[in-house]
Amino acid sequence: MTKKSLQLSALVITVITCFSSHFANAQSNSTKPTIPSAFEIIQAIAHDSLQGRKPSTVGYDKAARYVEQQLLTIGAKPLFGNSFVDSVSAYYGYNIVGVLESPQSTNEYILIGAHLDHLGVKSYGTDTIYNGANDNASGVAAVLKIAEALSKQQFSKKIIIALFTSEETGLDGSNALAKKIKAQQIPLKYVINFDMIGTTMTSAPNKVFVTGFDKSNLAITANSLLKEEFLLKDAQAEEMDLFRYSDNFSFYRVLNIPAHTMSTFNLTSIRPKQQLLIFHYQ
Ligand SMILES: [Zn+2]
Repeated sequence: MTKKSLQLSALVITVITCFSSHFANAQSNSTKPTIPSAFEIIQAIAHDSLQGRKPSTVGYDKAARYVEQQLLTIGAKPLFGNSFVDSVSAYYGYNIVGVLESPQSTNEYILIGAHLDHLGVKSYGTDTIYNGANDNASGVAAVLKIAEALSKQQFSKKIIIALFTSEETGLDGSNALAKKIKAQQIPLKYVINFDMIGTTMTSAPNKVFVTGFDKSNLAITANSLLKEEFLLKDAQAEEMDLFRYSDNFSFYRVLNIPAHTMSTFNLTSIRPKQQLLIFHYQ
């Protein structure tokens, strides 16, 4: 792995530390088994053998089985029936969805999520695999490591852990899940989604920006708990309306609840015309 890849795990861990310490109470049960490090998770999910994790391929299935194994290790249960697999369609594939409960959990839910899919392979050039270490193995690693940290503590809500299929085709996996949650009247209160948190923002190292910053008080509340401006409002992200370009938007649209994406994608590094395309496809 390159030096850039090493930065991925450092930043993921920063995000995890900040969030997990405020989602949970101080009581810790450190005897539970641990899952691989964020760096190891990114290495596994972005590996060439997964062939870019396109939905309905063997590579996506491998990524999904890997994620399921981590959910089992931390003691998560399926949210639906007896399987983590949440089918969408033959074309769009399936999400992986689990839930963590604590003895103190009420019947309210929050959801932490990230898309697991990426673009597969291309037929030209020498490097033909879209590995997607940043987009979005980094987000998957963040979700799994936050879930692991929470599984060792007490918390007051049930926590849905969702790894989405078919984000790249147009948020299709999260859209199906949001509709299912609505149909089953699951009392979901808010959503935090992670998409591309593997690089450092040059304008604000070790901070993240939140899409749709003003659409709820989530970011302001979190900053207040963290006692620092960790979640930023990014003028470019707002101007580009990135709120609509990741899986948070499905939950906002279908359920009308606070739902945001956290990202560290370096928007200042690209020319304006390229921005939307790159945010969606890198
Ligand atoms: Zn993405």
